[in-house]
Parts: sequence; C-alpha cells; structure tokens
Amino acid sequence: MSRSNAQLLNQSDELVDYNLFTSHAALEDALAREGAAHERAALSALGERLGSVTMFTLGELANRHPPQLHARDRRGERLDTIEFHPAWHELMRVLIAEGLHTGPWAQPRPGAHVARAAGYMLWAELENGTQCPATMSYGAVPALARHGDSFAPWLRLLLSREYDAAFVPAAEKRGVLIGMGMTERQGGSDVRTNTTHARPVNGAGPGREYRLSGQKWFFSAPMCDAFLVLAQAAGGLSCFLVPRFRPDRSVNALRLLRLKDKLGNRSNASAEVEFDEAFGLLLAEEGRGIPTILEMGVYTRLDNAIGSAGLMRQCVSQAIHHARGRRAFGRLLSEQPLMRNVLADLALECEAAVMLTMRLARAFDARQEAEATLLRRVLTPAVKYWVCKRAPAVCAEAMEVLGGNGYIEDWPIARRFRESPLNSIWEGSGNIMCLDVLRALSREPATLEALESLLEGAAGRDARYDRYRAALSADLGAASDGELRARDLTQRIALATQAALLLTDGPAPSCEAFLASRLAVAPPAAFGTLPPGVDCDALMARVLAP
Ligand SMILES: Cc1cc2nc3c(=O)[nH]c(=O)nc-3n(C[C@H](O)[C@H](O)[C@H](O)COP(=O)(O)OP(=O)(O)OC[C@H]3O[C@@H](n4cnc5c(N)ncnc54)[C@H](O)[C@@H]3O)c2cc1C
Repeated sequence: MSRSNAQLLNQSDELVDYNLFTSHAALEDALAREGAAHERAALSALGERLGSVTMFTLGELANRHPPQLHARDRRGERLDTIEFHPAWHELMRVLIAEGLHTGPWAQPRPGAHVARAAGYMLWAELENGTQCPATMSYGAVPALARHGDSFAPWLRLLLSREYDAAFVPAAEKRGVLIGMGMTERQGGSDVRTNTTHARPVNGAGPGREYRLSGQKWFFSAPMCDAFLVLAQAAGGLSCFLVPRFRPDRSVNALRLLRLKDKLGNRSNASAEVEFDEAFGLLLAEEGRGIPTILEMGVYTRLDNAIGSAGLMRQCVSQAIHHARGRRAFGRLLSEQPLMRNVLADLALECEAAVMLTMRLARAFDARQEAEATLLRRVLTPAVKYWVCKRAPAVCAEAMEVLGGNGYIEDWPIARRFRESPLNSIWEGSGNIMCLDVLRALSREPATLEALESLLEGAAGRDARYDRYRAALSADLGAASDGELRARDLTQRIALATQAALLLTDGPAPSCEAFLASRLAVAPPAAFGTLPPGVDCDALMARVLAP
C-alpha cells in the first residue's frame, strides 16, 4: 500500500530507518552523565545502523524462523547441533563486530561499560535472542580471568570481534562464545540442590580435568563453544568450564535432548542437556562454585536490566509514533488528553529506567573503587528486579496504544511483549533478587551506607523526596520482617534512586512528574494517571524526538 493510501485509511506509517540513539534524548544524556560522552559519535553511528529497515527485518526473520535441533544424523549417530536461520547469523555477526559482547574487556578505557550498556540497550530494541550468548560471554570474561593462565586461550578468543559459527574446536576458530549451565529440573534458584556431579581424572584442583555427569533443565545458546557449569564435586558445588570439544578434537559428551518451546526469545535456542562423562576443567577450588558463577551472574543481571530498558524504549517509541499518526474522534491520538497522559507516563517510566540502568553501568566502570563495589552489590539486584518487572507492564500498555494492531504479530510490539517477562525470570527471578538486596544490606553495613550516600546527594531539593528517603531509611534500618517485605523495600530503593537521579540531573518536567506520581502517592497500578499540569510533550520528547 502506498503511503498516501495508508494515510487515507488512517494507518500510521512504519517507524523504521531512524537513528535509535539520536532520537532518544534520555539515553544521550545518560551516556554523557555516566562518563562516556566521548563515545557519542560511535553510538550515533550504531543507532543509525540498528534503526535501519534491514536490521529490523533481520530481527523479525530470526524470530519467525526459530532454530532447530539436529540431535542425530539420518543413521542415528549423535550430532547435537543446532540449525539457525541466516538472519540469526547475520545479527550475531554484527553484534560481535560491534563489540557488544566483550568490548569493554577487549578495549578497557574510561566509560567502556557505560558505552557498551548504551549500545546493548540499542540492540535490545532490535532483537533479544542474540543478546543471550552476548551477555553470557560478557560475564564469562571476569569469571575466567580470575582463574589463571589455564584459560588464557579462551579469553583471547572471547575478546575477538569475529563471529565464527563453525562447529569445530575452539583452537581452530576466530572467535568463541560462552554459555552457562546452572538450572536443573529440581531447582534453579536453589542451585545447592544440583545433582550433576564431577569426578577428577588425574587429581583434583583448579585447572584440572574432571568428568561431569547429569542433566541441566535450561541450557541456552547451546551452540556456544564452552559453558560454565555447576556440578557437585567431593569438595562441594563447583564450577567447571565445559567445552563442546575435548582437547583431542572429539566432540564432548554434551547431549542436547530437546529445545524448549518458549513464549518469546524464539530466535535463540534453549536446550535441555545431558552430560555423559563430559570433559570439564575446574575453575576455582572445589566448593567455590556459587561465588565463581555469580561473578558471571552480576554482569548478566546488569544486562537483564539494560535489555528491559531497551525493550521498553522501543515499545514506547512505537506507541508515541503511532499516536502521532492515527486519528480518532476527529483528532490525532497524540492530541487526546487522556492518551497524552498514558504516553507521557510510559515515557517517564522509560526515562527513569534508562537513567537507573546507566547509573548502574557506571558502577561497573569504576570496578576497583570501594564505593562503586558496594553500590554494585546492592543496586544490581534492585535494578534488575525493578526495571525487568516494569517491562511487561510498559510493553502491554504500549501495545494497547496501537489498538487491535498492537496485538498482531505483523506489528512491532507483539514480539517485544512476548519477550518482556523473560529478563525478570532468568538469572535470578524477582523474589531472589529482592532477597539478594536484603542479604547485601544485612551482611555488609557499608553497602547500606553507600546507598544512603547516593540518596543523600539529592537531599534538600524537594520535600516529597526528603520524606520518602527518610521513611525508606528508617525501614531499611529496622527490617526485622525484611523477607516478607523484600519486594516493598527493593521497589522503594529503586524508586528513591530514580528520583535522586532525576533531581540531580534530570529535566525538570520529568522530575516533577516522577515525584508527583511515584513518590508523593502510592505508585499507580496502571499508566496514564499523571496529575494535571504535567508537560506531556516534554516527557514524550525524551523518549522519541518529535
Ligand atoms: C528462556 C530461558 C532461558 C534460560 N536459560 C538458562 C541458561 O542458559 N542456564 C541456566 O542455568 N538457566 C537458564 N534458565 C533458567 C532460569 O535461570 C531459572 O528458570 C530461574 O533461575 C528460576 O529457577 P526455576 O525455574 O528452577 O524456578 P524455582 O527456583 O523453582 O523458583 C520458582 C519461583 O519461586 C521463587 N522463589 C524461589 N526461592 C524463593 C524464596 N526463598 N522465597 C521466595 N520466593 C522464592 C522464584 O523467584 C520463582 O519465582 C533459563 C530460563 C528461561 C525461561
């Protein structure tokens, strides 16, 4: 249909071929504020590239044609390979060429993690399945780097910007990716119940060879070249590097049993796997499995939050764009007061999520600083909880702005909505994140002090904020029934931090709307309840340039 016909039929035109970065003022500002202003030109180029119709089409294709498992060949011999649509491979090639997997480790420089966070957020607007191997590889680098020279060849290949999909031993490849295997059928949150077991071949200890046997119930991106896997050894739950090939070039005994039929994230493969005396190398001492793999988990949790912020931004900008082109009752939807309230409220949620996740990313740049370490400890689970939890609500409301079309798979929001609950579930579900916040605060009082000091930075600017902060502070100090209230406390930590960031660095209209709607009253269950006087256009312009 020609554009004029579309307009005649009151259909909004497609929002494609636009710069995802320069049209997003909230992200541009956050990049500069969190110490990566010098990366602006690179992100602008990336935003232009990712916003193209070509890239959007690849994202659609990769999800419409999910991967297929080839467990055996036609003679019944084991293959354990996955076949992907060419769109997946092209997306992976671009993602890795852009360094969105391990870029900050390959080229460490000030603002590297913040710049990657911005790029990863742009990618989240486009396609989410490919983010799974990228984020696991990002998190695997510090986990492997801590454990000696035995893993140096793996690290070198992880830092490569070449995507190499060949199913051959890592030593013969131009670049590798790493996944993780923790969750078993009987328990994912409580990995202490893991039953996969490992026995040493020629003596126990870090860097030594073990044989792993057992199953994992979730094993995403199984075409990765190696995995960090938890298994029980004599000394307790331990972490192993398990490659797809043994050192003698034979295929390692990882049997892919079937692929999950998932609600979203359909471009990516998530397998059930069995280890049959699989070759593995122990990372840290036996019994240190949980802290070892959690080092990876901290980075993937950061990425969960960034990914959800990106999903929200794409859905909200699609909604704003649609409302600017669709008429009802004689006026554009974007001119209808109630719709303006909904759109502004969604935009506000999005801006607050962007600010919060980018602030967290800065704490990953300042890895060695004591204060940043403490903030990372408490804010990573709090931000993952809150931003990921808001994403499905935001995506659903944005979908409704498109009316019936929003629910249809040809349109851009349906896929994102199906994607939106995932970040909250994997890598520590909501409750687990909230319990982790409490654990951080109670185990190390300095963590609470670091959080208080961040919130203190915005004190004295607004009475509503000061009251909110004082009440939160009192409750955090006296949380005897903390576990029962962990969600309430975590939500308030996230809201207070968002308010503090808006008060110190946010634009006045967004800040005022946030304080009035999220702190002064109980946060509403639905969007579109901003009080009178809010500058709706200003809020929307922060997420999608007019
Ligand atoms: C698409 C997808 C891909 C995945 N990929 C991987 C992967 O590659 N590798 C991997 O290891 N795992 C993977 N997972 C698994 C995921 O990490 C787990 O599903 C998740 O950690 C939860 O574990 P579970 O499913 O066993 O649920 P459970 O541990 O049974 O938890 C169920 C619910 O109970 C809550 N809960 C648990 N304990 C408590 C408590 N003490 N108090 C209050 N509430 C509690 C949880 O928050 C959750 O809501 C993937 C999952 C999905 C959906």
